[in-house]
Amino acid sequence: MSDDLKPCPGCASRNLFDGPTAIGNPERYVRCYQCGMSGAFTAWNRRASDAEIERLRAVLVEARDDVGSWGAYASPYFQEKWDLEGNIARIDAALSPLPAKKGGTVD
Ligand SMILES: [Zn+2]
Repeated sequence: MSDDLKPCPGCASRNLFDGPTAIGNPERYVRCYQCGMSGAFTAWNRRASDAEIERLRAVLVEARDDVGSWGAYASPYFQEKWDLEGNIARIDAALSPLPAKKGGTVD
């Protein structure tokens, strides 16, 4: 296993197979020994870094606070017209952790 390989997206394990797809095929293939998730190395490692995810999460939290704070000044008509509660609910859903995806393939 090489150091440049990200942990499993399904279970965060670092117990991974990392090798050629087949004899004579140089493309790297990754498989998690813990949950069975697998995929081509390029797809496996395409995910954003933890630092990038945290930066985007912070921006989303700030946007959610702004929508909630400034939207509260709008009349009930405009809050409903622009679906203030729905926007906040969608942002909250985006901020929630994703359910674990085990045993699938990385696309
Ligand atoms: Zn896994």
